Parts: sequence; structure tokens; C-alpha cells
Amino acid sequence: MAETLEALYAEMIECQSCKMRAGCTQVVPGAGQLIKPILLIVGEAPGAQEDEQGEPFVGAAGEILRAALRKTGIIKRTNSLITNVLKCRPPKNKFPKGEPAQTCVTKWLWEEIRLAQPERMLLLGGTPLKYVAELDGITACRGQWYNIRGIRTMATFHPSFIQRQNNSGMLSYNETFDDDIKQVALEVKAIFEKAQTKAAESQISEGKPADPV
Ligand code: SF4
Repeated sequence: MAETLEALYAEMIECQSCKMRAGCTQVVPGAGQLIKPILLIVGEAPGAQEDEQGEPFVGAAGEILRAALRKTGIIKRTNSLITNVLKCRPPKNKFPKGEPAQTCVTKWLWEEIRLAQPERMLLLGGTPLKYVAELDGITACRGQWYNIRGIRTMATFHPSFIQRQNNSGMLSYNETFDDDIKQVALEVKAIFEKAQTKAAESQISEGKPADPV
């Protein structure tokens, strides 16, 4: 059993456990902070660009997500990890029902969560909502906090959905998406600041000068 995310990903990229692997270029592991990320972001599955580059959320939908994260000024690659429910691109981007997804979640996603031990999780869309939180209905569930195996977790829309709404002129979803991510960012900020204060207090109690916060 892997004891670090780096070791888990080294095993993951060799995975052939379900039929999804035959139809994609490569397995796409998570990307970002591999050691104690404050936030774990979970999407659905790699698309064409992710499959080609081997990194999650690098396509057009990924740019919508990254722009929303940048706007917070808080959620960065150094404090978050981005991954997907399914690690291989499904044929025609059609998320498979049943066995492949369940295999991938059991074999890899729960292990990622165990090793990352994030303080917060953000689920993007109905698929991670179903597989991680065992809930249905992203419209009703988004913007609320849930306790998933002891981790405070929020769900919001998938950026592909935001992209489709934008393309059809429904720009109001952008605001909802940004607001949900802002709520998560405020909690990430509080956790980060608390950790810094604790580190400074510990330095002082050891008689060392505290680093500037
Ligand atoms: S989808 Fe998941 S379980 Fe299936 S081959 Fe890819 S990594 Fe393995």
C-alpha cells in the first residue's frame, strides 16, 4: 500500500484495472500540492487535452476553474490538489456507468483522499457529488457544506457546465460558481492563517524569533 501521494501516482499511471485504459492515451493522476494540501478539488474525468497532457483541468473548462481559483488570491497550486473521479478519459467523454467508475474510485480516489488528508474538499459537479458524497442533484446540493469521512466538503457546478451556460449567454452561473469557490477559499485562508500563527507561537516558545506572517 502506497504511503505517499507520489508513490500512489507512480502506481496509478500503470493501472490497467478497467476497460477505460484501452481507449485513452494515459492515466491522469492528480496535480498540485502532494504533501498535506489544504484543499482537494475533485472533478469528473479527463477530457481530450487532459488525456494528451496527463494533467487534470488543463482544457477550456480547466481555464474557467483556474480563473475562479486565481480570483480568490488564496487557492493556489501550493495549497491545493486537483484530481478526478475517473483517471482515464472515457470514450467520447461519456462518463461510464457502473463498474469502471466504481473500480477507479475504490482503487484510487479514496486512497488519494486518505493520503492527502485535506482539510477541505470541493466537488465539481454531479459525478463527484454522487461518488464521494453519495448525493444526487447538484443544483440543490451546491453551496452547502457536508461532512465526508470527517472532511468538510462543498459541492458546486462543474466548470464544463459553466462553460456551456456561458456559451448560451447564461452568465449568471459564473457568479454562483465564483461565490461557492469564494466560500471555500475563505475557509482555506482561515486554516492557513491558523497554521502560521501556531508555527510562530511554537518558534517563540522554543526561544527562536518568529518568522513574519
Ligand atoms: S479508469 Fe481508473 S481503474 Fe480504470 S484503468 Fe484508468 S486508472 Fe485504472
